[in-house]
Amino acid sequence: MNRTSAKHTLIQAEACDLENRVRIERALSDPIARIPAQFKNAYYKFLYYNQKDYLKQVNYFAQLAFLIYFWADRYVLPDVEMLSGVIRIIAIIGAFSLNYVLFKYIKQIKLLDLILPLATCLSAILWFEILLQSKNELVHSYQYAAIILIVLGNLSIHVHFRPSIMTSAMISAAILFGAWRINDFGDFTIFLLVYIPVLLFSMYICWNSTLNSRKTFLRALLDDWNFHTLRKIAHTDELTQLSNRRQFVHAANKKIQETPMTVCTSLLIFDVDHFKAINDQYGHDVGDQVLCQIAEIARKEMRFYDMLARFGGEEFIVLLPFTVPEDALKIAERLRHKMEQHQFHMDGQLVKFSISIGVSKIDPDHAKLDQLIKQADIALYEAKRQGRNRVVHFNFMNFCSQAF
Ligand code: GH3
Ligand code: MG
Ligand code: MG
Repeated sequence: MNRTSAKHTLIQAEACDLENRVRIERALSDPIARIPAQFKNAYYKFLYYNQKDYLKQVNYFAQLAFLIYFWADRYVLPDVEMLSGVIRIIAIIGAFSLNYVLFKYIKQIKLLDLILPLATCLSAILWFEILLQSKNELVHSYQYAAIILIVLGNLSIHVHFRPSIMTSAMISAAILFGAWRINDFGDFTIFLLVYIPVLLFSMYICWNSTLNSRKTFLRALLDDWNFHTLRKIAHTDELTQLSNRRQFVHAANKKIQETPMTVCTSLLIFDVDHFKAINDQYGHDVGDQVLCQIAEIARKEMRFYDMLARFGGEEFIVLLPFTVPEDALKIAERLRHKMEQHQFHMDGQLVKFSISIGVSKIDPDHAKLDQLIKQADIALYEAKRQGRNRVVHFNFMNFCSQAF
């Protein structure tokens, strides 16, 4: 299964919570692997993409086999050769066209799954009509070939077992009614003795196939759940729920590569001032709370295309695509001001904090994230050196140094 394609995603990342995990695991340990209601659509989608081609091929194969049996009829029952040829050719042309149209336009695997059993039922009716017209003695042994039809009808079902009970009944009715008309009571009883075990066996195989489909789907669902969850853990900072450094570097590099050289990209790095003192004075818990609140404030201040991440300990980073230095400075200043204004109570103590921000802009001749980070870091160092709680832009550093 292709994970990158949205249409193949069985479970959305947002749905990967513990509740759903329990549902999937419970379904897997259920002896009949009942699919939980919220995953029914995903189950049909999964089977549609995995079973559709197989089903289509089996249908064409069965039609071909139905046509080839003309030569068997011709050899065994030459007196109905003409009738067999006409019936088989007309039936095949109809079935082939119908098959083509149904598989092209029907997107519901539940319905596609029933095409072959229903076609098999029709074949049984037609075939017994051919047998009934023959005066040949071999009809009595040849009729046992009808058993192939119930096997074929049940082997192809993979989605639901219940409809197979209905289609098995229909195919059996067609076959047994035909056999009833051909045989006397004694021969019909022998036919029944052969037919019934094959019917039950084919239904058992059908039950097994549908059970395996459900289990395969549930395992694939669990794989997807693990995939999304591990990816989230690998990309997210646990404390602040922002992207982590790895995710930022990956996404920012991609963004820089995609952005035309003529467009200006800026970067902010900000660091909590005297954070060690906050930890020492209020405790580590309060320190953690400060980091969470900073993440929350920064998240609200960013535009939807800005990329915010926790870069390390008490250091945060933001890539500002399509942002000229003047605007980057305004954004940084607004952010610094918001942090400075913010205060909260924890454990009965009033906590306040500030941040220093280093800003850089992309150099069109050297559009590298490393360079951008390095320059913002130098600017941040300068902001700290100048007394903290301020913004310094790498490209205006001389100017800023004088201004502060
Ligand atoms: P400056 O103004 O120069 O940035 O000084 P500072 O005290 O903020 O910087 P310093 O590098 O001396 O100390 C950073 C502290 O941040 C040290 C470390 O224990 C603390 N820290 C790093 N990560 C976390 C965290 O996840 N939670 C808490 N509570 N503290 C953290
Ligand atoms: Mg600090
Ligand atoms: Mg630091």
